[in-house]
Amino acid sequence: MARILMSGPDVTVLERTAVADAFDSGWIAPLGPAVDAFETAMAQRIGRRHAVALASGTSALHLGLLAWGVGPGDVVPTSTMTFAATANAISYTGATPYFVDSDPATGQMDPGLLAQVLEELAEEGVSVPAVVPVDLLGRSADHTRIVEIAHRAGAKVLVDSAESLGAHHAGLPAGKHGDAAIFSFNGNKIMTTSGGGMYLTDDEDAACRVRHLATQAREPAVHYEHRDIGFNYRLSNLLAAMGNAQLRRLDEMIARRRARREAYARIVEDVPGVEVFQRDGDEQDNCWLTALVVDPEVAGVDAASLSAALTEAGIESRPLWKPMHLQPVFAGIPAAVNGASERLFRTGLTLPSGSALTEAECETIDLTLRAALDRRAVSAPLTEAAT
Ligand SMILES: *Cc1c(COP(=O)(O)O)cnc(C)c1O
Repeated sequence: MARILMSGPDVTVLERTAVADAFDSGWIAPLGPAVDAFETAMAQRIGRRHAVALASGTSALHLGLLAWGVGPGDVVPTSTMTFAATANAISYTGATPYFVDSDPATGQMDPGLLAQVLEELAEEGVSVPAVVPVDLLGRSADHTRIVEIAHRAGAKVLVDSAESLGAHHAGLPAGKHGDAAIFSFNGNKIMTTSGGGMYLTDDEDAACRVRHLATQAREPAVHYEHRDIGFNYRLSNLLAAMGNAQLRRLDEMIARRRARREAYARIVEDVPGVEVFQRDGDEQDNCWLTALVVDPEVAGVDAASLSAALTEAGIESRPLWKPMHLQPVFAGIPAAVNGASERLFRTGLTLPSGSALTEAECETIDLTLRAALDRRAVSAPLTEAAT
């Protein structure tokens, strides 16, 4: 039996037709009308003045920072609870990341801790041109506070919304917060272009700069003229065609992920010590990935043994992101740590959440998870009696 994936691509005849139509139109590479349409549709949906389609979320982060002149000698605070791409992109510019720990309840960057970090860096006279908060697992971070704190310190905010397309915070869609934001259309994200990303902003100069740097920094001259080191980071027209089709299905795909979260919530409802992560206020969430948080002392089972039971049944699951300040590659990078992300890493388990999961797959997952949780009652009779 095929392995049940956490978040596989959800594609239909609509995407297939869109890619074939782009192919037949002759706009094979690199840019073309599907790219323009994708940028327009995305800017409209998010309410941003400018959108630039790029080869990946990582390249969008990289150019978003370069467009603001971020470089060697700068420090860029970012969330420690994230995927490595966020910190990698900061490193590409020559700047140094500064990892900021999480609010224990939400897992998102702790705004109070960010304020402390910015104060200390200001006292030391360190240049902090930008902050890169991350929207964790499809939920927006507290941008109301983060943006205010960053702006007060004179830093711009580039939001890593790679995971949160379709989420909301304070009445605004993910991608609309901060001075600029990025999305990822990697194969495991809420919608995919097979691989791709987008940069969004209301700042025309920054958008032009990103577009310029992404197209080999070619100056407008018939001969090839260059004043900057450029990059080959644009999204191909064929892949943008797929993005247009996915965007039409986005709300339906989010609804399916939400239904999966509801199913998990029902399964753990009466299990002490096991909760759906970020359950509070999750109507604001795109439900990209649903994670459980398992308190082993109360539950009588830990995240690792639940994960082992799922693996045995051919079901993919994974701990929450290993915090960046624990990653060997970022040893020695400064971090403000409060223990929250390390605890989430130990106790969190992300479950299959994709919108392409079949009914049969969902049934297998639910039965396996229920059985693993039922066994816990036998192994932890004392805890059970106590509750
Ligand atoms: C996926 C992801 C990225 C990278 O996006 P790619 O399109 O794969 O380059 C960056 N940040 C976060 C938080 C992500 O989850």
